[in-house]
Amino acid sequence: MTSVATQSIHRILKDVWGYEAFRPLQRESIESVLATRDSLTVLPTGGGKSLCFQVPAVAMDGLAIVVSPLISLMKDQVDALNAVGVEAAYINSSQTAAEKRTVAEQIDRREIKLLYVAPERLVIDRTLDFLSQQPLSFFAIDESHCISNWGHDFRPEYRSLDVLRERFPTAGIHAYTATASERVRYDIVGQLKLRDPHVLVGNFDRPNLTYRVLPGRGKLDQISAMIDRHRGESGIIYCISRREVEQTANSLASVGHKALPYHAGLTDQTRKEHQDAFIAERCDIIVATVAFGMGIDKSNVRYVIHAGMPKSIEHYQQESGRAGRDGLPSECVLLHSRGDIITWKKLLENPSDGASDQQALAAAFRSLDAMDDFCTSITCRHRTLVEHFGQSFDSENCGACDVCLGEIAMVDDPLTLAQKIISCVYRLEQRFGASHTADVLVGSTKQRVVERGHDQLSTFGLLSDHSPATIRQWISQLISQDCLERSGEFQVLAITGKGRQVLRGEHTPMLSTAMDDRRRTTKSTATKSDDSWEGVDQTLFEELRRHRRELAEEAHVPAFVVFGDATLRELARCRPSTLDGFARVKGVGQKKLADYGQTFLERINEICGRNNLTQDQWDAIARLDPETSEPTANTNKPSLPKGAATAAFAEFRQGKSIAEVAEKIGRATSTTEGYLIDFLKAENVTDASPWVDDATQQTILDNRDKLDEGRLKPLFEHLDGHVSYHAIRITLTCHQNQERDA
Ligand code: ADP
Ligand code: ZN
Repeated sequence: MTSVATQSIHRILKDVWGYEAFRPLQRESIESVLATRDSLTVLPTGGGKSLCFQVPAVAMDGLAIVVSPLISLMKDQVDALNAVGVEAAYINSSQTAAEKRTVAEQIDRREIKLLYVAPERLVIDRTLDFLSQQPLSFFAIDESHCISNWGHDFRPEYRSLDVLRERFPTAGIHAYTATASERVRYDIVGQLKLRDPHVLVGNFDRPNLTYRVLPGRGKLDQISAMIDRHRGESGIIYCISRREVEQTANSLASVGHKALPYHAGLTDQTRKEHQDAFIAERCDIIVATVAFGMGIDKSNVRYVIHAGMPKSIEHYQQESGRAGRDGLPSECVLLHSRGDIITWKKLLENPSDGASDQQALAAAFRSLDAMDDFCTSITCRHRTLVEHFGQSFDSENCGACDVCLGEIAMVDDPLTLAQKIISCVYRLEQRFGASHTADVLVGSTKQRVVERGHDQLSTFGLLSDHSPATIRQWISQLISQDCLERSGEFQVLAITGKGRQVLRGEHTPMLSTAMDDRRRTTKSTATKSDDSWEGVDQTLFEELRRHRRELAEEAHVPAFVVFGDATLRELARCRPSTLDGFARVKGVGQKKLADYGQTFLERINEICGRNNLTQDQWDAIARLDPETSEPTANTNKPSLPKGAATAAFAEFRQGKSIAEVAEKIGRATSTTEGYLIDFLKAENVTDASPWVDDATQQTILDNRDKLDEGRLKPLFEHLDGHVSYHAIRITLTCHQNQERDA
């Protein structure tokens, strides 16, 4: 890639879209297209995949063909491109013959840079023949996971795209998706016949989302509390059943919220109306089943609530991922009930289409169990999600989930409790699963317990004060901390080396209070969300939002096509007084400056004059915008400490132990350990001795060659579990700081 081309794509980014810097992997992805090397780009929702093909389409000669699965998606993307002054069009079944002819004429006159088309239309001979007469720049296959029946949105029409390679042997083919699984990636590359593709896989963490799992009781109150925190903002509420969708939407509407239902039982027409109302911001809240989702690229969804547990971690990632595509802080709350898993199992066993194949059913049940484990787990939610998709997570404390924020209460004596559970697994000769073990511990007189004589075991009824569900939750937590493992077809429980340490009292795991006893509401948005509003004048922001809605309605485009929320917040923060100033704001390219600059500027000047607000606050941008500072692929860097972390840092500076600090700041040990690592990194501490004794440090350093690409597990296992993960992390962090100093 020549630096001239690199400069030119940067110019396009700035002049057309008004953005200063590329997001991670955007540049690499664009360069593949420019170099006509096939590629597959996997970026999370909101990662900015569209620009990966839109920028090169503008930079290159000829017409780019974009395959897109949904009419609504095509329309929004074309509207957004036209709004920034890029000539784009679509052909689909919603158009009249005359409209299609107009598009064909525009293409013949070389007036169009991007053409959006559905796969079934693209592969018919007439289209292929027509396109082979045109100078094409490349093919972009958006939502390319639709090609794989291993994905969640399989569309058989995508399969026929394999003709593209034959019919256009010299054109580059580039695929884009947010689906992280290996299997799906492999399918995409194979089915599209990509040649030596450049595969780019981004970091799947979504640091701007805060995840929480709460026990769901009085769900309507819990939902209302969230809505109150986000008055007038957009949110999605997912329910398991249609009935629940209707009930929730009605209840919310009856207390004055602008909420609409969405599910497969409504007519196409009604669904479309509701979706359009949501996108145009005539309605704030969509209450939906899983049927709602693809095609919603509304960027400013500020919260997603799961009123019931989703059916897999993949679904959870997809659905919660619809929050905060614009990169601004957003909340994801899952209201978990014990019954959810049973409801799902019933639905899966009696599918409406009558088809239920045993193997598929078993796989679906395993996904449900994994999801249930996620809900009751006490491992950082960001970490669990990222690791589920095969990536590693570096930060000790994400600062953006209920676990890391210390919102989950722990039991008082986890050692004794864990010993009782593990002993029971031992008495059962490591031949039974979690449910049976829980039944024995509560002292159940179920036939299968009594028949086997398990009511005679010394551990029978040892935890009779608790429910089987709670005990299963603890078992899952012990599994996630490597004290127990599941093995074989029947998922029987076995005791690990670390589990034996627990029995000997040499290791104390962490166990949380029962899900049902956890706090049911979140105190506040004491999360990363706080500084995204810093310096923003709310009155001005609201005024600009109203103005945006008026302009969008006039132009018949979704509100976010005019400007995204990030741009509006920045306008309400910097408050430019001139067009030159306006042009500096993120998301203001040349066309939008010409179209909307003057009218927005008038509003800003008027309101600032009336409310005595100072204008042209340019320092604010540089300080707060992560995207204008140096971009990095992995943004797990420790940020400035807030609240409890600040207090913890002060204690650590005096060399206090983790236990002392945990007590002092009133947080769980696990959270405090996370703060310690952040502290060591932030303050470049080189001496680990206040927290790890010298001999242990030496052992860890002597065996450093056991680390596998930074993964600690092989080293941990090599030391037979004699040294804790925390000791390893602390020692290595200090050691790295030393090396950096040297
Ligand atoms: P995806 O398709 O990966 O989910 P989009 O392409 O819809 O994501 O982009 C999400 C949002 O991020 C859009 O509002 C887009 O304009 C914005 N965006 C994309 N790239 C950049 C960038 N380099 N700088 C700032 N904003 C960006
Ligand atoms: Zn976390």
